[in-house]
Amino acid sequence: MDRLSIAHIDCDAFYAAIEKRDNPELADKPVIIGGGRRGVVSTACYVARIRGVRSAMPMFKALQACPDAIVIRPDMEKYSRIGRQIRELMLELTPLVEPLSIDEAFLDLSGTRRLHGGLPPVEVLARFAARIERELRLSISIGLSYCKFLAKIASDMEKPRGFSVVGETEALSFLRDQDVSIIWGVGRVMRTNLARDGVERIGKLQELGEAELMRRYGVTGQRLYRLSRGQDDRSVSPDGAAKSISAETTFNTDLAGRHELAAALRRLSEKVSLRLKDKHLAGQTITLKLKTTDFKTRTRNRTLPDPTQLADRIFSAGLMMMEKELDGTYFRLIGIGASTLQSDENADPEDLVDVAAAKRARAERAIDGLRGRYGNEAVFLGLTFPWADKKNRDR
Ligand SMILES: [Mg+2]
Repeated sequence: MDRLSIAHIDCDAFYAAIEKRDNPELADKPVIIGGGRRGVVSTACYVARIRGVRSAMPMFKALQACPDAIVIRPDMEKYSRIGRQIRELMLELTPLVEPLSIDEAFLDLSGTRRLHGGLPPVEVLARFAARIERELRLSISIGLSYCKFLAKIASDMEKPRGFSVVGETEALSFLRDQDVSIIWGVGRVMRTNLARDGVERIGKLQELGEAELMRRYGVTGQRLYRLSRGQDDRSVSPDGAAKSISAETTFNTDLAGRHELAAALRRLSEKVSLRLKDKHLAGQTITLKLKTTDFKTRTRNRTLPDPTQLADRIFSAGLMMMEKELDGTYFRLIGIGASTLQSDENADPEDLVDVAAAKRARAERAIDGLRGRYGNEAVFLGLTFPWADKKNRDR
């Protein structure tokens, strides 16, 4: 146990826990963060979870299960600020901190013994959990292992206030009974394919050879082979926080008009979305960049309640920020980016109140499906673009 040094730390019911902390009257009450324009649960506190409320659940269903729940609209600025505080404290443990979202990170504590007065990582982490509770009055769950894959799974085992350790000797037996969907990159489609082939538990993958898995599932098969056996050599990369996926364009002639700028923004949003989807990533912070004719750069950020990889959501967030900047200034460049990158497993819960947005999201997914079958270019050419008509009308 003393040699294990890769940890995954995840705050428990982060948004809800912050609201409870800041308003003690809520302590014993079922609290749901979400609502507003979007009709889904973003985070439910553990009281609400016991009553059957889950993340990404439609709000009306959540309120059927728990009619006396207190619904609070997310205050993303506050949550980001506290997320940064926690990250600062993590960085006191090791410089190797790789954030996955505002309340979650991998830490590599190897080689930090001297820094911690001879304490092994397992003890350093236990003290860290106590410190977060004492100083920030929030609780975390920790998974400790020898690789990222198992650390991440472990942190989820005993939530809230969990601390799970998975060593090399128990990796195979630990994984055997787990559902294949816990494997990174196994989404709904892959899970269905695996189920069709009679593979539901990881143990089944452990029985199959690498060549067989690759024959069946291509490159993914190789990952399934390795991860099912607890083999994961991805390192904890501390620049994760700064990592973003973005696209920008410099205009031939400077632009000030809403429609032209929005058209460019839409194209760039699609580019960013495509790259996120290809990498199974989603971003929770959207950044708009504008450069004026006299080379001044304006950068605006917006943190979303849920990570996204959809062009429609990236564009909407960018457009909202862009509209505030339209004051007749001419711009020579526009760019849009997604950061606070994480795996796409929790991305884009269905929007039930904003029916039009949900429809656009479904259309986008249908287009993605076609693109997968017929190639990117073919489908992009057919994509209708609402601003194009208006732009032409203006002229
Ligand atoms: Mg969390």
